Amino acid sequence: MRFAIINNILVPQKHDSLPISQISNIPQQALNPHYHYHSNLQLLLTGKQLLLDDIPSDEIQAHYENGYVTYRKGIDYNGKLPVCARCGNKDPQRFARFPCSRCGEMCLYCRHCIMMGRISECTPLIGWNGPPPEPQLPSKIMEWQGRLSAGQQTATDRVVEAIKQNNELLVWAVCGAGKTEVLFHGIETALAARKRVCIATPRTDVVLELTPRLKAAFPGITIASLYGGSKDRHLYAPLTIATTHQLLRFYHAFDTIILDEVDAFPYTIEESLQYAAIQARKPISGMIYLTATPNQKWQKECRQGKRAYTTIPARFHRHPLPVPEFAWCGNWQKHLHKNKLPANVLQWIKSRIEINKQALVFFPHIPLMEKALSILRQFAPTIVAVHAEDPERKEKVQKMRMKEIPLLLTTTILERGVTIPNIDVAVVGAEDEIFNESALVQIAGRAGRSAAYPKGVVTFFHYGKTEEMLKAKKQIVFMNQEGIKRGLIDEKE
Ligand SMILES: [Zn+2]
Ligand SMILES: [Zn+2]
Repeated sequence: MRFAIINNILVPQKHDSLPISQISNIPQQALNPHYHYHSNLQLLLTGKQLLLDDIPSDEIQAHYENGYVTYRKGIDYNGKLPVCARCGNKDPQRFARFPCSRCGEMCLYCRHCIMMGRISECTPLIGWNGPPPEPQLPSKIMEWQGRLSAGQQTATDRVVEAIKQNNELLVWAVCGAGKTEVLFHGIETALAARKRVCIATPRTDVVLELTPRLKAAFPGITIASLYGGSKDRHLYAPLTIATTHQLLRFYHAFDTIILDEVDAFPYTIEESLQYAAIQARKPISGMIYLTATPNQKWQKECRQGKRAYTTIPARFHRHPLPVPEFAWCGNWQKHLHKNKLPANVLQWIKSRIEINKQALVFFPHIPLMEKALSILRQFAPTIVAVHAEDPERKEKVQKMRMKEIPLLLTTTILERGVTIPNIDVAVVGAEDEIFNESALVQIAGRAGRSAAYPKGVVTFFHYGKTEEMLKAKKQIVFMNQEGIKRGLIDEKE
């Protein structure tokens, strides 16, 4: 759109005007207390940064002129370099020009966040400047009555405190420690103080899994569940559960953000998602980070006392985490190219099939996994393999849970989020660079999760130990020691 500034008011018009990004200063109008604003616009825009196309109203300009709506530039300039105000993209390679019908120019746009609607030089980002909606709170906010382990209780107290004080806190909870339960009292505290809360996670699966659990725990609270294509997209809610991508539509929205799996793809890789999480926070707000495997930088900051954190070093069942064993297996890739498996790998797998012990076996690459599959099917024809693009992925995992499959070969796709009660775990080719510390800790964390079967064997077959393997083992051993020290683990093994 093209705008002119008339009497210190931004006015859309075709002639004697400029695309919004070329207007140096956008005047914000004072709030007119006598103006009857639309409550549906209030609900739609509070804490958001939307495009005109997202807003079914022709009264945006009137609301702006009365101080209730804000216009921001979709694309801003840092000197001569463009910066996308929504996703933070400042890589010149990721901008392009197109003949734009709105401003009639070859308009520069951000390619990076285009899947959320195009942001170009003439795009205003529209937000709310009026009072926020004040949804009614039920007399009892939380119905959840589950029990917390001693480790969870300590972490819960820290989370509640951080939320009250609007601080940052890292919750470093081992795989299977039950980190979701640790959030419940914190969320209750925030909601009771009329704070707006968001739980953001990289994976849609997690949003879908958390939504019913939180709806059951907070039955009187409106909950927006946001992922690509979800129908809650415009729902105003005190509690939002969203994929990290969806945070791109929010601006200064939340008093409390809980960021799940901060180590996981794509959050660590995509700077724009970190930018989105920061933009979605109110300037005064709390941030809770959850992970089982913080990266090296964060671990160091924790040790040096530069980052506030709390650990849950033990699982609910009070048994230690299975510690991975390392087993050298020679040049396993060469073996596979000759349609063979290294003897110790084959032995490991065969012995489990014989005693009916289920196992997950991880491979770094699909083609080699497929080769291993054809070899192993000679011994057990019901063995299957799974990878990210596999359309039957969910069915196969379900069959594994139902004990219909003896052994599942997998890529890193199952490194997190999968719980199968009684399994052993192996990695073939643990030296591959895809298996970093965090991935290996997560993989080892698949074993021994249930109280009925708290033990499991974890073996990393390798053709040369890597730093990442050593760090992963060290982290697991450290957490077990911490668990024993704090009295959260009963037996020493
Ligand atoms: Zn344009
Ligand atoms: Zn962008």
